[in-house]
Amino acid sequence: MTTLFDRFERAFMPNYGVPPVALARGEGTRVWDVDGAEYLDFIGGIAVTSLGHAHPALVEAVSTQVATLAHTSNLFLHEPEVKLAERLLALLEQPGKVFLANSGTEANEAALKLAIKYGKTTGRSYFVAAEMGFHGRTLGSLSLTGKPSIRDQFGPFATDVRFVPYGDADALAKAVDENCAAVFLEPTQGEAGVVPPPDGYFAAAREIATRTGALLVADEIQSAIGRTGHWFAHQADGVVPDLLTLAKGLGGGLPIGAVVGFGAAGTIFAKGDHGSTFGGNPISCAAALAVLDNVDLEHVRAVAERLRTGLEGIAHPLLNGVRGRGLWLAAVLTEDRAAQVQTAAQQAGFLVNAVQPDAIRLAPPLVVTPAEIDTFLAAFPAILTEAHHG
Ligand SMILES: *Cc1c(COP(=O)(O)O)cnc(C)c1O
Repeated sequence: MTTLFDRFERAFMPNYGVPPVALARGEGTRVWDVDGAEYLDFIGGIAVTSLGHAHPALVEAVSTQVATLAHTSNLFLHEPEVKLAERLLALLEQPGKVFLANSGTEANEAALKLAIKYGKTTGRSYFVAAEMGFHGRTLGSLSLTGKPSIRDQFGPFATDVRFVPYGDADALAKAVDENCAAVFLEPTQGEAGVVPPPDGYFAAAREIATRTGALLVADEIQSAIGRTGHWFAHQADGVVPDLLTLAKGLGGGLPIGAVVGFGAAGTIFAKGDHGSTFGGNPISCAAALAVLDNVDLEHVRAVAERLRTGLEGIAHPLLNGVRGRGLWLAAVLTEDRAAQVQTAAQQAGFLVNAVQPDAIRLAPPLVVTPAEIDTFLAAFPAILTEAHHG
């Protein structure tokens, strides 16, 4: 019998390998595969399905919008994009200006273009980013990405990017001088394995950028829209970046990205400097507004605390600890057995992500219930045991 997996392998380029599960539908935190097996989704499409699957408000917003006006291009404006930009700025509580794109990497491309233009007008020629950081797969974003295995084979790049160890404020201070146009940082590194920096690191980055005149770009593509229990992770650090990039959780599953420029950084682009045909299309904007209307930060904090405390309470020889912020955690292993944990979890009915050889990323929908957290916590020790010896 030819399975969907076989057909996938024949039809697609091998860049993803063949994923282990073929999903058919979802509801809240639950998803079902094409054979009807049910899973609790504790990865949420990589911190994307903020409201879970098939949330009534998202379904209603998207259905109504697609039946009303699906696309305008940037030749014409529409109300959902205006509402969304206003809404983001209100949540950010800072004066700024917005550009809308379709994805995370496109948001970072726009931020990089802004930084390049800023550099040209102020005589600055290089950029600083963090080792193991992830900013996307298109060439500009890839040039800022600090993971050699995905970056190096596609270089050299047109941008001069210098990498510093993440979390080391002294290394950052040494790397950034008056010729640096911008510093790109994640407030917590996502793809590196949900790695928060030491306290004060982001504030130190702000201070270094301000002192030297470099732009501070916060890549919050994975960390924002309530994921950490705050609308934006940088708000917890008491820091305002110059540029902020968003995507993933913003659309709740619909493709959208955004760049926000604060203060003077909001007016770097002049008319004609950038654009996107689909960027900020009405359907994705309607979805994002539904997300922003329905994320409940109090709920996120409560369930996040329950998940963290529960994980911390598990004593298991394969579990080394827990790191991360809010509903965005990594279970750190004592051995490189994350792939086995992911498989054992799947067999037990849970979708999790082996983000690093020794780390399991958990990013359930922000609507995950306490009961669903408890179901996962009850099952996790046996999953670890299976992965440890299996
Ligand atoms: C996912 C991610 C990106 C890239 O987003 P895409 O939508 O996959 O292009 C960039 N930066 C960070 C921090 C991310 O987590």
